[in-house]
Amino acid sequence: MHSDHVEGFIDVMQLRWHNVGTKLDVVRSADAVSPLGHTVSCKKFAAHIGDTLFHAGEIAQRVTEDKRRPSGGPAELTNVTSPSSLERTLNRFGHWAKVRVQAIRSTHMPGHASYRVDTPAVSVVIGGDAGNDKSAPPRDYSISDQLEKLAKAADVMVHSVIHPIMAPDTGGGFAAPVYNRQSTVGDLGAMARRAGVKHLMLTHMIPPLGADVLGRYKSPAVLTEADYRKPVEAFGFRGSIVVGTESCERASAVELKEVCARYQPARQPASRVHLKNLRQQTASPPLWRLRKTCLLAEKAQRRPDRIRLIARNGPRRVPKPACRRR
Ligand SMILES: [Zn+2]
Repeated sequence: MHSDHVEGFIDVMQLRWHNVGTKLDVVRSADAVSPLGHTVSCKKFAAHIGDTLFHAGEIAQRVTEDKRRPSGGPAELTNVTSPSSLERTLNRFGHWAKVRVQAIRSTHMPGHASYRVDTPAVSVVIGGDAGNDKSAPPRDYSISDQLEKLAKAADVMVHSVIHPIMAPDTGGGFAAPVYNRQSTVGDLGAMARRAGVKHLMLTHMIPPLGADVLGRYKSPAVLTEADYRKPVEAFGFRGSIVVGTESCERASAVELKEVCARYQPARQPASRVHLKNLRQQTASPPLWRLRKTCLLAEKAQRRPDRIRLIARNGPRRVPKPACRRR
């Protein structure tokens, strides 16, 4: 339950509460007592998920505006549950009868767990930040043995990844314990091959694509999608590889052009709608910025390589990335 993995969930729950949403099942691992003495608790995280705004009086203020909002804040919309009880809940509904949710202990921080969801259509393994139980070399590899068992013949495996250029001896200053608790990209490729996974999705890249720094650490090289893809292939994985993107990653113009080309037919109606919306918005002054965006959007339709400018200027289209803590 690291902050860089769950902080987005705080926003999800706050918005859900704001918009008077229904309760959400929060699948959690059991409270974990660290050898250092403290306890890591998903249950408490959910129970206090809106505390800053609650204690600031913001929740009370908004309840006066819409009485349907629970007075206890977003925590009241969480239904904290374990993986097994979620499975039971899902199976109460006929069409979910074949859904199976499994969790396994994996190493990264106290209480870390990895999940597998099997449905009649697809099986997905979410490794999270799983690393090897041996906290430092010498060891055979950096991946989690438990996760490898869980991932047998899965259709999709989603996993965080670290590139060996961040190894403590390469000059970037990345701390050894932080490096060692991640799975390296080549080891993940080898594991996906052994487990017979069909699609490997890499996420939470360390370092992020196109970045020369990662928070306070310097990245010894600026990496591209290929830098993550090649080691996976070199370790024998022959399935499809998706190198995900996330905050702090700057997509290159080339990548955006490729994406643009790939989605062009499907996106055309949507982009027309987008343009129409922008035109409507620009009708009310002083939205000079949106007018500029509109102009750029129109140009980009003629020249996909200009999409990058839209990404920079169009707040409605691409949310501004916020740097994450590690
Ligand atoms: Zn982490």
